[in-house]
Amino acid sequence: MSLIVQKYGGSSLATTENIKYVAKKIVDRKKQKNKLVVVVSAMGKTTDNLIKMAEEVHHCPPEKEMDILLSTGEMVSVAMLCMAIEEMGEAAEGFVGHCAGIRTDNFHTKARIQTIEPSRIISELKKESIIVLAGFQGISPDNDITTLGRGGSDLTAVAISAAIKADLCEIYTDVKGIYTTDPHLLPNARLIRELSYEELLEMSSAGARVMFSRAVEFAKKYNVPFVVKSTFAEKGEGTMVKEILLKEGADVSAAALDEKQAKLTIFRVPDRPGISSRIFSSLGKANINVDVIVQSVSKEKYADISFTVNISEAEKAFSIIKEVAKEINAGNTSCDMEVAKLTIIGIGMMHHAGIAGKMFSALADAGVNIEMISTSETKISCIVKRSEGKKGLKAVHREFLEK
Ligand code: ADP
Ligand code: ASP
Ligand code: MG
Repeated sequence: MSLIVQKYGGSSLATTENIKYVAKKIVDRKKQKNKLVVVVSAMGKTTDNLIKMAEEVHHCPPEKEMDILLSTGEMVSVAMLCMAIEEMGEAAEGFVGHCAGIRTDNFHTKARIQTIEPSRIISELKKESIIVLAGFQGISPDNDITTLGRGGSDLTAVAISAAIKADLCEIYTDVKGIYTTDPHLLPNARLIRELSYEELLEMSSAGARVMFSRAVEFAKKYNVPFVVKSTFAEKGEGTMVKEILLKEGADVSAAALDEKQAKLTIFRVPDRPGISSRIFSSLGKANINVDVIVQSVSKEKYADISFTVNISEAEKAFSIIKEVAKEINAGNTSCDMEVAKLTIIGIGMMHHAGIAGKMFSALADAGVNIEMISTSETKISCIVKRSEGKKGLKAVHREFLEK
């Protein structure tokens, strides 16, 4: 008998028909003498629709109430899936985040899990019930409902697996596993059988939304191997994600395109110690994640600083840098909402010379201009015009991943 955590994403639960299909899959697995904890996301595009609704009544919805609103999506899925399982004759017990003992910090809309107290889940499992748990939510130190950030149900699944020491963690989604790039963007993408935490972490922070990046970070920290596979395909092993220390062969294992980037620039920034810290600590205090940063060569003691943020935080970041620019006597500021980040990833990359050159040539040959570059041992990212992103992705995928 195995203790299995499964997670079903929104696309797997989009309709009541899908819910019945998933319920049958769960019941069959239970009948093979397994204990099951099933984490669910909101049905279909529910979360997007709730956000739209909130924005119709408030230009910048308060985050605490936003969490109350967004958490309802997953609650609907819990109730519906439990009912469908019960209808098939198995006992199911539904839990929302706080009843499952998931405690987070106070950062509404992107809260971090602090502790999990799974005693109620464990005692229900002993009674042979199938546990259905709302993903993406927890409870703050003030006892308010929090959510974990878009895509956060993956984190709930990985974290609960660690907390109850599950034998297996399965992430079910609408594709057959993790591919060399988003198969919905590029049909030439190939399924990857095995991937290291590091590579997937780089992929998800590069914008591959197949797994929530903080879920991968958590899995790596607590060593929770997991498999990503299709809800609807009858066959297929999916992609196994685990600790892989050495990888032979391919230098580049995946490419990703993040079309949700914005580029902000402060011109004529005085070039003296403490100025960058002044700019980026103001953004940090507002909990804004800054991604690629580039500073131009200083001319007459002034330099331009550009950086990217997620487009959803661009307006907030722009108003902060306008203020900071005044305080530090810098020049103008700008915000370009039309950029994308193109990244190639591979843990083998650090042992191979010339990869950056190959990537830049592939982009140049495709006529794609590079606006900013950032590199690390395991990835190279280029900021390009959003309208050229897909063309660039195709070119680098062909260069590194189709041979
Ligand atoms: P779920 O609702 O199951 O959480 P998501 O929409 O969050 O599903 O994630 C699955 C989607 O991730 C896929 O439909 C695919 O378009 C996208 N995706 C992006 N990059 C990749 C990749 N490298 N491999 C597989 N899917 C990817
Ligand atoms: N429903 C949430 C979202 O759409 C969480 C998730 O799907 O993982 O972001
Ligand atoms: Mg997801």
